Amino acid sequence: MEATRRLADAGVESPRVDAELLLGHVVGRSRAGLVTLDDVDDDAAARFGALVDQRADRVPLQHLTGRAAFRHLELSVGPGVFVPRPETELLVEWALERLAGLDGPIVVDLGSGSGAIALSIAHEHPGARVTAVERDPGAIEWTRHNALERVGKKDTPVGVVAGDMTDAALLGELDGRVEVVVSNPPYVPDGARVPREVADHDPPLALWGGPDGLDVVRGMLSVAARLLRPGGYLGIEHADQQGTALPALVRAHGAFTEVEDHVDLAGRPRFTTARRTEG
Ligand code: GLN
Repeated sequence: MEATRRLADAGVESPRVDAELLLGHVVGRSRAGLVTLDDVDDDAAARFGALVDQRADRVPLQHLTGRAAFRHLELSVGPGVFVPRPETELLVEWALERLAGLDGPIVVDLGSGSGAIALSIAHEHPGARVTAVERDPGAIEWTRHNALERVGKKDTPVGVVAGDMTDAALLGELDGRVEVVVSNPPYVPDGARVPREVADHDPPLALWGGPDGLDVVRGMLSVAARLLRPGGYLGIEHADQQGTALPALVRAHGAFTEVEDHVDLAGRPRFTTARRTEG
């Protein structure tokens, strides 16, 4: 298809899949359903062409369809919110394993964005009492929107709180009571090269983490230590090159034990986990 070639020429990473998903979006069909698509009317062809133009200009696919798939959910996304990534699904898996068998565990997601982590945990561990924290006034509109949509689908409601994950007073009422603190914080080192989709469309507050990318995490560890119950779990996503530095930071903090790093499905270092020390 010509659209595929246009997207490939524009440097889009998966041009064929993106072209098919955009066409499917326009005609209201899945990618598989396109096989039996005979003809598109002029109006649909024009809308498809306009979307391909925007994708060639490196607008994220998910902004054009307005939806992002994450684990079992489809979340609304668009300008102002970080598009959830598949590699973060494993961090959620790890959190769910820590929660298995627990009745009404308290969970906090720091820097929730679209709500992907928080809403997935609420969906897959019914009864979990999940709070999603977001400091970006633009992004939190999307957190709230998606949280409301899940309530409409009968998931356990997730609390959405405007706040900064480095704020020493954040969620004081949960001190020492949280089973799992989980976060995909901003961790990209300032000045690192990122694709245009990311640089131009993901919100800066969701990306940049200071000279080594770990500034926000440095500020967050004490908040997590205060919130967690003794023996509670912390899980933090990080950049490829932080698989040694972040575990070292967590060990050096002093309030955590069993510090481990985990790789993603591509084998790249992706998240660090630890437990709050007892007593
Ligand atoms: N993984 C994201 C990227 O590729 C960065 C996410 C983050 O900083 N939390 O751009």
